[in-house]
Amino acid sequence: MSRLNRVTVLGSGVLGGQIAWHSAFKGKTVTVYDIAPDAIERCRAAHDQYAAIYLSDVGADDAGIAATRERLTYSTDLAAAVVQTDLVIEAVPEIPEVKTAVYKEVAEHLPPAALVATNSSTFLPRDFAEATGRPEKFCALHFSNLIWSMNFAEIMAHPGTATETLTEVTEFAVEIGMLPIPVRKEQHGYVVNTWLVPFLNAAQTLVTNGVATPEDVDRTFLYTGARFGPLGMMDMIGMKTAYDVLAHWARETGDAQMSANAEYIKSNLLDQGLLGLQTGKGYYTY
Ligand code: NAD
Repeated sequence: MSRLNRVTVLGSGVLGGQIAWHSAFKGKTVTVYDIAPDAIERCRAAHDQYAAIYLSDVGADDAGIAATRERLTYSTDLAAAVVQTDLVIEAVPEIPEVKTAVYKEVAEHLPPAALVATNSSTFLPRDFAEATGRPEKFCALHFSNLIWSMNFAEIMAHPGTATETLTEVTEFAVEIGMLPIPVRKEQHGYVVNTWLVPFLNAAQTLVTNGVATPEDVDRTFLYTGARFGPLGMMDMIGMKTAYDVLAHWARETGDAQMSANAEYIKSNLLDQGLLGLQTGKGYYTY
């Protein structure tokens, strides 16, 4: 059993909400923090949906769901959320400036022994190590959407991460039912997003350029037996994060098509309030 029993999740959005719920379900005492009170309310509503899913698909019973709820606290007070924690898992937006600012603020309140992990989809831990104020206690711990069925966790160090930190974070991942996937070199996108982001970007290109409808793009992939096509996956990921990732990497690489894809998502989905599965509408209606 690792010593990482009290967990704070920063950001109560799509992934933060899932990480918090799942960790509490697996016996951890969890505080989920968000800067926005309305995001906390959406997270509570998502947790009601997860309760139903865990009862029907994950083998939970009513007592397990009640215990999960008892182990969960929701907070908009950052200092209170981290002051007694063993492990902070950061799941704030995929925007470097936002993550850096959060790490710097958190560093002022953390107990000395606490570890910090980022759930970033595409950034390197070295980008934020100094901002945490404890580079040796910091690494990436990356979960995938639908955490209860996509139950693997990618673990990635930066050059200053202590071996003990990696060991403890790996033990934590196992304790909450994840298959740990060690990423042996720092890599933007770990294993999964190294192939998934170009795959989603290619599918989005077909839609942006009017080559095929989202439904037809997805149809060609559903023949593999997958539950979602690439545009359906973008609904699941959430359009805000899909946009943040494509917009950031378009700027970084100067890729004009990726930039057009980000702009398409912004004007046709985000600006229309079509945020994806979590809010009931994206490319599809749920
Ligand atoms: P999201 O937009 O659904 O949620 C982000 C949350 O962070 C929002 O609730 C927002 O209010 C909150 N937030 C914004 N600024 C904040 C701050 N300063 N302090 C605290 N909270 C703040 O985003 P998401 O999709 O959950 O992504 C979060 C992180 O997880 C990103 O790094 C993303 O790349 C990564 N991730 C996402 C997925 C996915 O499928 N969505 C999968 C794996 C990893």
